[in-house]
Amino acid sequence: MNFLSPEQIQSLRAEHGTPLYAYDQRSLEEAAREVLAFPNAYGLTARYAMKALPTAAIVRLFSDMGLHIDASSGFEAQRAMLAGVPGEHIQISAQELPQDLKGLVDQGVRFNACSLGQLEAYGRLFPGGEVSVRINPGLGTGHNNRTNTGGPASSFGIWHEHLDRVRAIQEQTKVRVTRMHTHIGSGGDPEAWKHCARLSLDVAAQLPEVTTLNLGGGFKIARMPGEITADLQEIGNALLDDFRDFKRQHGRALHLEIEPGTYLVARAGAIIAAVTDVVDTGSEGYTFAKVDTGMTEFLRPNLYGAQHPIALFPGDAGASREEIDVLIAGHCCESGDMMTPAPGDPEGLAPRRLPRPIPGDSLVIGGAGAYCSGLAASNYNSFPQAPEVLIGLDGQARLIRRRQSLDQILHNELDG
Ligand SMILES: *Cc1c(COP(=O)(O)O)cnc(C)c1O
Repeated sequence: MNFLSPEQIQSLRAEHGTPLYAYDQRSLEEAAREVLAFPNAYGLTARYAMKALPTAAIVRLFSDMGLHIDASSGFEAQRAMLAGVPGEHIQISAQELPQDLKGLVDQGVRFNACSLGQLEAYGRLFPGGEVSVRINPGLGTGHNNRTNTGGPASSFGIWHEHLDRVRAIQEQTKVRVTRMHTHIGSGGDPEAWKHCARLSLDVAAQLPEVTTLNLGGGFKIARMPGEITADLQEIGNALLDDFRDFKRQHGRALHLEIEPGTYLVARAGAIIAAVTDVVDTGSEGYTFAKVDTGMTEFLRPNLYGAQHPIALFPGDAGASREEIDVLIAGHCCESGDMMTPAPGDPEGLAPRRLPRPIPGDSLVIGGAGAYCSGLAASNYNSFPQAPEVLIGLDGQARLIRRRQSLDQILHNELDG
């Protein structure tokens, strides 16, 4: 949230109201340049995992910079194409087989089969066609079971010991597995990531037609003090020799793909909200600041116990306020709509030290670019979707998504 000055917060509030998402173009571009410079031995395609923040203006910005797209559903692939991304630049890795897979592939979209069933379905649609397979290499890196997407407790991908079944489907349908994919989870540490990359190379060695290896996303970003941001140069360089050894042993120069979501957008976003009420539960209790956002824009604390920086900007800037311990409560009638879970204990609460809040103050949540706008309990309690602005390199804010209207919430309802 460092990209927002107190004056800018005031003027954004005056123009767009709260709650409001604000994104910083400079930070987005910096992250994209780092991702595009990921070290590689034989070529790189970097994809933006657009589920992290799927708004068209963001997808277009990255696409214009040379990033391709990882889509999590057929709908997301369509959304990317509507934003202007060429079909050939999109790959789908989905839990659910897209209904119009044939139509999407005919538009150039690539498919990553995430189960044996999906591989078989693709093979039936495109006998002799080329496809990617997502492999679960037997290891995950998520910071908890909700963000882990590898290992025996994860349903994502084809279990690495089932390659015989992959071969059987290849023989049956004549489909050609020329690309392989792993994505073992979000927020993992670099050592686990490198270990997984090596396991993936071992699997690729057993799939003789594979010439592209996609190692997924999952590069950690520091949101809170003390957290560590993944060093892409360090991770990429550590893998160079593995790719070169692979070529010596197997005669294949593997093209590398990576597909970060978090890394590209997490720190480039903030949620601007207003304090609407302050209540307390007595001398043995807590002070709560109630704000006009919550799980409708910001579900991560509720879903994962996620920790985000939170800053209070007093409306009467300049007046000195004592700091007190405050819990931040969301605006939904839901006891779990709290933005201050205890670190490492999602069921617990941990007050933040903030200037004593007064209704009207601004509350800004940082690190809110990834999985906030795109992952929210939209319309719960009938709150409309919040607008989004992109702050350009010139410091000017452009509206990239309007606030939803009540009519839009009701649009599909019928008298019955
Ligand atoms: C979500 C996802 C990503 C991005 O993960 P981050 O942790 O946000 O980098 C990449 N690939 C696939 C297949 C995903 O589902």
